[in-house]
Amino acid sequence: MPSSPLPLVSPSASSSATPSFEGALASHGQEPLTAKSVSTLQVNMGKVCNQTCHHCHVDAGPQRTESMTKETIDQIIEVLDRTPQILTVDITGGAPEMNPHFEYLVQQSRIRNRQVIDRCNLTVFYVKGKSHLPEFLAQHQVEVIASLPCYQEANVDQQRGKGVFDRSINALQTLNRFGYGKTGTGLNLHLVYNPLGASLPPSQAELELDYKEELMARYGIQFNSLLTITNMPISRFLEDLRESGQIEAYYALLVKSFNLATVDDLMCRSLLSVGWDGRLSDCDFNQMLDLPLQNDFPQWIEDFNLATLEHRPIMVGAHCFGCTAGSGSSCGGALA
Ligand code: SF4
Ligand code: SF4
Repeated sequence: MPSSPLPLVSPSASSSATPSFEGALASHGQEPLTAKSVSTLQVNMGKVCNQTCHHCHVDAGPQRTESMTKETIDQIIEVLDRTPQILTVDITGGAPEMNPHFEYLVQQSRIRNRQVIDRCNLTVFYVKGKSHLPEFLAQHQVEVIASLPCYQEANVDQQRGKGVFDRSINALQTLNRFGYGKTGTGLNLHLVYNPLGASLPPSQAELELDYKEELMARYGIQFNSLLTITNMPISRFLEDLRESGQIEAYYALLVKSFNLATVDDLMCRSLLSVGWDGRLSDCDFNQMLDLPLQNDFPQWIEDFNLATLEHRPIMVGAHCFGCTAGSGSSCGGALA
């Protein structure tokens, strides 16, 4: 099992008594963790964002400057051209729409008949020069996955910033007007819930029912499904845990909640992450931890080779307990 050459979390982030993730896998005969395919390319277009949320694992914000170039996007498109096995282009950030080449990547991916996902913070629609986005996304049949950690204003504003809830509701109503979340349009709108603090998400199915009832009753909003995502103990959320003295307790919760049934569907087993600079990682979290693929595998999108990468060993660390806790967690929500 390859392990990180770099500290995955700060030395004080998890207790020395915290079992290793490799050990947890090994005790169930699941080590080494390997990929099974590369059916999704997750493209992180940069760290620029119009928000600065407390839980952000990217440490994104308006002052960040890291942004994917058109040259790197062209390398991604070249990979799509020679790799029909990649079915989905999953676009994330920061706020990916803040990248001036966002529309280009969407258009080129759709021309090549790939499913395109936009991980959207909703408030980006109100950034100057971005009001065309709802119509653009609908025209190109882009699936929208949007963050809304609660249906109550105070909770959302506490996590994501003052005024974010109102703008998010307006944005969802706008997406509904373009057909998103409505039966028969093919325009899928999924919402993302993550806990406000150091706890695991509740049942995805039950929470989805609550969200559907509340958002319809209060605001007339429709959406397809709710995805619950566990807060990963890295970056800004890790700092929050440190400040509140909860790091050890949170790790203990994640380790105690290890669920073998999640391992088969961990997103790193079918996804490859491309950083804003073109570097490859097993997932967005590894990317944020500067944890690249194992040394003897291609490191950059321009060197992409499916035959080499689709069964690669995955670089894991203590943070991976965030993906296997409870019902599991991935960019597609719960796993088990
Ligand atoms: S969580 Fe999303 S919306 Fe919030 S700062 Fe990070 S990238 Fe931006
Ligand atoms: S953080 Fe999750 S998705 Fe990433 S390598 Fe670990 S288990 Fe896989």
